[in-house]
Amino acid sequence: MTKTELAYTGIYTDWTREAILAEVEKQMKPSRFQHVLRVEACSIQLAEKYGAAVEACSLAALLHDFSKEHDPESMKAIVLSEGMDSEMTGYGSEIMHGPVGAYYAKTLFGITDEAILGAIRQHTIGGETMTLIGKVLFIADYIESGRAFKGVDEARRLAADSLDEAAYFKIEKTIIHLVKKELPIYTGTIYVYNSWIQRKVGKSE
Ligand code: GDP
Ligand code: FE
Ligand code: FE
Repeated sequence: MTKTELAYTGIYTDWTREAILAEVEKQMKPSRFQHVLRVEACSIQLAEKYGAAVEACSLAALLHDFSKEHDPESMKAIVLSEGMDSEMTGYGSEIMHGPVGAYYAKTLFGITDEAILGAIRQHTIGGETMTLIGKVLFIADYIESGRAFKGVDEARRLAADSLDEAAYFKIEKTIIHLVKKELPIYTGTIYVYNSWIQRKVGKSE
């Protein structure tokens, strides 16, 4: 399926694809908008390969970084008024932009599909449980064709065989990366790591 064949207007949202693209583009610098388009292209490929709903994956990808460049103070206000975890506000936009992006997907774009909203909400840290759509976005954000960090080739190889293996790889490498850079780790990030590693090694102690 090519991008121009995608039809979600009237299914997931009343917005047309053109209007969505224009609104997303306004929220961010051109380089990030290009990242969003690459995440969408990668999401479509993964969705086709793994049998996920292509249109839902496309839409989640287009909206995933909607709030990334929003003013942290405005995001903080949404986190607090919506009763989201206030610890998120201690990490600039890094942790908040997923949940706040999901808030805009719902309130601005009228999306009610919980798999799409959850995918956007979880795209930075992952989740203890993730839907297929959530895993597609989580991995596509990590391996889209513009990503060039050490380990991305390994992540791409894993994603060719298993979304779960690729997700675990991202979760583990993100923790290692944060520790190496001496960055504080959000409690939710550790929680997700624990749940994935316990499942991977098959033990829970
Ligand atoms: P992007 O929005 O396309 O840049 O991708 P992400 O949403 O995955 O990235 C957000 C950033 O948050 C990345 O640089 C991650 O390394 C970072 N990040 C993820 N988890 C944590 C965390 O627990 N603590 C901190 N300080 N940063 C995190
Ligand atoms: Fe993001
Ligand atoms: Fe992203």
